[in-house]
Amino acid sequence: MFASDLDTTIEFLKGVGPKRAEILQKELGIFTYADLLSYYPFRYIDRTRFYKVSELTPDLPYVQILGRITGKETIGEKHKKRIVARLTDETGTIELVWFQSLKWVEENVMRGKVYIAFGKPAVFNGSFSISHPELETYPRPTTVTGNLTLQPVYNSTEKLKKFSLDSKGIQKMQALVIEQCLAEVKETLPSYILEKYQLVNRREALLNIHFPKDSGALQHAERRLKFEELFFIQLQLLSSKQFRELKFKGHLFSTVGKRVNTFYKDILPFELTGAQKRVIKEIRIDTQRGIQMNRLVQGDVGSGKTVVALMSMLLANDNGFQACIMAPTEILARQHYHSIASLLDGKVARVDILTGNSTKKQRVMLHQQLESGEIDILVGTHALIEDKVIFKNLGLVVIDEQHRFGVEQRAKLWRKNNIPPHILVMTATPIPRTLAMTVYGDLDVSMIDELPVGRKPIETKHFFEGQRLRMFGFMKTEIAKGRQVYVVYPLIKESEKLDLLHLEAGIEQMRYQFPLPDLQISIVHGKMKNVDKQFEMQRFVEGKTQIMVATTVIEVGVNVPNASVMIIENAERFGLSQLHQLRGRVGRGAEQSYCILMSGQKLSKEGRKRLETMVMTNNGFEISEIDLELRGPGDLSGTMQSGVMDLKLANLVKDQQILLEARNTVIEIFQEDPLLSLPQNALLKRFVDKKSRGIALDKIS
Ligand code: ADP
Ligand code: MG
Repeated sequence: MFASDLDTTIEFLKGVGPKRAEILQKELGIFTYADLLSYYPFRYIDRTRFYKVSELTPDLPYVQILGRITGKETIGEKHKKRIVARLTDETGTIELVWFQSLKWVEENVMRGKVYIAFGKPAVFNGSFSISHPELETYPRPTTVTGNLTLQPVYNSTEKLKKFSLDSKGIQKMQALVIEQCLAEVKETLPSYILEKYQLVNRREALLNIHFPKDSGALQHAERRLKFEELFFIQLQLLSSKQFRELKFKGHLFSTVGKRVNTFYKDILPFELTGAQKRVIKEIRIDTQRGIQMNRLVQGDVGSGKTVVALMSMLLANDNGFQACIMAPTEILARQHYHSIASLLDGKVARVDILTGNSTKKQRVMLHQQLESGEIDILVGTHALIEDKVIFKNLGLVVIDEQHRFGVEQRAKLWRKNNIPPHILVMTATPIPRTLAMTVYGDLDVSMIDELPVGRKPIETKHFFEGQRLRMFGFMKTEIAKGRQVYVVYPLIKESEKLDLLHLEAGIEQMRYQFPLPDLQISIVHGKMKNVDKQFEMQRFVEGKTQIMVATTVIEVGVNVPNASVMIIENAERFGLSQLHQLRGRVGRGAEQSYCILMSGQKLSKEGRKRLETMVMTNNGFEISEIDLELRGPGDLSGTMQSGVMDLKLANLVKDQQILLEARNTVIEIFQEDPLLSLPQNALLKRFVDKKSRGIALDKIS
């Protein structure tokens, strides 16, 4: 039993021992047989293809050649001693060369016999040779792990290689474990799921991922293991969602009352877009179910998230609850306050604002009015949840900008009340649907994927350094028309000093181009004090300055409808989503807006693709998809908690279909069997219970 147990430490595998075991642990995190089995090849060499000698070229990777040994001789003395054999097919001859294991070659490589030689061809003295080829007799013997048409290639490291644990060495270990323990491998997915999605069982999948019988078997194996990987991530995310829904009751917003109706019919100056209506309906449904809503609303800049938030807050008001909306910065909070106040036009609901700058007197009054329920909607910064604010009856919290609002803070809200408020998170940084399902998999996600009609798309141009004068000319024309201009410089920690120098040089150049009484420049960068920043921004907001030169501090935020030109310096140094966010600062007024991307002449392939993408489209979702392809999900998730991103096999770009299937399967399972108490789901229940550290689903309701 002992020898075939999958939990056996790798040390006990034949040929491993304590030293190699230690290195395997350190380098690859492989502790047990089971760990080894889930260390998958990263690619395969196609061994169904045989090359003819006449087809060889020096730049070919590994090839295999079928031929007869037509000669073999030992050459040289001592350390130069080597064996050279000639392998001949009907198109020519190559040399096979060995410098080591000469005795073995002497005894085993037979003149006149047919072999398959496998290795990397090189040109030597005008003819092809392979040194230290792998040789197999032909025809190949058939064993489970031999006779491979697709040879697995494993990632290894220098250290591992020193102990003969290169790809081949790892393959040998895999073969041993599979021989000894494959029968011990247990199924992790219920059989009805295997049937429904026609997935191969776990044993077959593991065998074929390491030693594919053929490319069909490999595909089946990959599909099964990817499904499994994504399925269990979704199971974990959705079970914690389920857990929350069972544990926390939610406020009921059962009626659409006078406030919503009056606002919608009499006050709202425009028709909602289809997407806005759909999202409001989704929120309506959530808040009537008796569960606590946790919904993420994704919508591109300018897609009209504020109205959606406002109508949701009015819905809360209509049902006797207060609502609040939180922004990441003081400036943004003020902007929200103004746009909400102006949308409401002094009617329907009473709105107020609380930020770090509110005076003591204001606070005292506000606290009192919140507690008495006079205030319906409170706007503020995150200080709202820290502050000793007591609401009479808080029913809904809207959080603007997910990025700065972590899981921790959300949890704080859940704990704040007996019945926690509904939570609506709004983000203007669209992320692809599949990524959202993984990163925000425990939230419901709504998309406002439509802009209000009549918006003029921002025109985006890419200029090289040599076209700088043209750019200045364009700035002059626009400023002469009364417009305002942003000029943004990158600021990256490592080169902070250098970047500030660039910014200062840029300002000098501008001062030269636009001599003073002509115009005023606001300057904002990260090294300035907050009050100074505020002052400079305010001057720009009020139209006292025409140019705002800034590092990316303006990324999230300010709304200056009269600013219609965004110039981004060293644009190649920004990421796609950042570029898109920056561009979103313009295009807010009635005027045609422009974005000019300045870059050096030399661009990396990726840098070029980013700039091309920006010129090609204004659609944030499209941009985020391309970003995901360019950077991979790990990078994209950035400051978001990773963990869920450590995928072994599945790829969030290429395997979207499988992800959808996996997620939908889990959703269906929970619909049918919320506590996973059906016998067919016993395996899944065990997984969930283990992950939730003993808090079993059925113990909480
Ligand atoms: P964001 O999604 O970036 O927060 P806002 O909510 O600030 O966008 O909306 C941008 C602008 O579009 C605001 O001036 C808002 O009043 C306006 N707006 C929102 N929805 C519509 C609509 N359906 N039709 C016309 N204008 C709209
Ligand atoms: Mg907004």
